[in-house]
Amino acid sequence: KETVHRLCSGQVIVDLATSAKELLENSLDAGATSVDIKMRDSGLTSMTVTDNGHGISPENYPTLCRKHWTSKITSFEDLDGVTTFGFRGEALSSLCAVATVTIVTATRESAPMGMSLEYDHSGELVGSTAVARERGTTVVVSGLFARWPVRLADLKKNARREYTRLVGLVEQYSIISDVRLCLSNQTRGQPVVSVRTPPQSDRLTRLLGVFGAQMRPHLVRFEYQAEDFSLEGHVSRAEGGRGGSDKQYFFVNGRPCDLPKAKKLVNEVFRGYCPNRYPVFAIAVVVKGSVDVNLTPDKREVLIRCEERVLLGLKEALVGVLEPDENA
Ligand code: ADP
Ligand code: MG
Repeated sequence: KETVHRLCSGQVIVDLATSAKELLENSLDAGATSVDIKMRDSGLTSMTVTDNGHGISPENYPTLCRKHWTSKITSFEDLDGVTTFGFRGEALSSLCAVATVTIVTATRESAPMGMSLEYDHSGELVGSTAVARERGTTVVVSGLFARWPVRLADLKKNARREYTRLVGLVEQYSIISDVRLCLSNQTRGQPVVSVRTPPQSDRLTRLLGVFGAQMRPHLVRFEYQAEDFSLEGHVSRAEGGRGGSDKQYFFVNGRPCDLPKAKKLVNEVFRGYCPNRYPVFAIAVVVKGSVDVNLTPDKREVLIRCEERVLLGLKEALVGVLEPDENA
């Protein structure tokens, strides 16, 4: 209880992209090696996330969707070394409050049988049926905001943009993890696949999967080492993709996140060589013991205590690789 209250950030985000991202993170936390995200009407009708992770054991069925219940963290001290994506126990309970949530899950012990579980809007388990299921978990969220016409209308207005944002988020997980990921959306007719990672591929292959194969000759890799942090990344020496500032990704200690100052810096340095253009990049920052992931409710913003020096290091590394070739 104590832990939970200190973690409470008050505001809970329920939008299409963040909801689907939370489900994906749950699958990754469950050790899945394969995750499928299927949206219908960009998630307005339903979102279904299927994984082959460790599943949910029967003793957790009743508590799973209760507010602030989590199986991932037991004391505030644990927070220093959070290695899972989730730890607040908010995703499933908030989804239950505004949508219909059904979970089908099986563990190694129970497979090839599993359980289909239904929860009510307060997160209480209201029905369970035995079903055939391989090890893993499927979470189906449907009828988001069906009981809130105004929120629903809002959601509808933003659905396409939210789906685009989700594509960006899933791309980041496809770069950082070695899990097989597939994201698709079905409006009418056949589902359209937006992200699909090649299985067991190396980092560069995964990057090109996201940036496009045409970026292969333009990507340069850089590294920077300091005493208490390190940087490693790929940046394009040509304008990326659609010429916007999209596909610019940061990871801090293995977690996809937003670093507005660093993003601005990379674009500024790039513009010094290539006016009015934007690169694509994926940059991993590893900081020793001074990141606070518990900053914004969607856990995207992190606090890096040595941020100023990280920025200086980043600038130095970038200048080193973006310098035009002598004979170019
Ligand atoms: P959190 O991820 O912060 O623990 P969630 O509300 O996202 O909170 O999930 C609640 C709990 O449900 C998790 O702690 C986990 O035990 C279980 N869970 C959710 N999704 C899965 C999944 N795909 N596989 C296994 N367990 C899951
Ligand atoms: Mg979670």
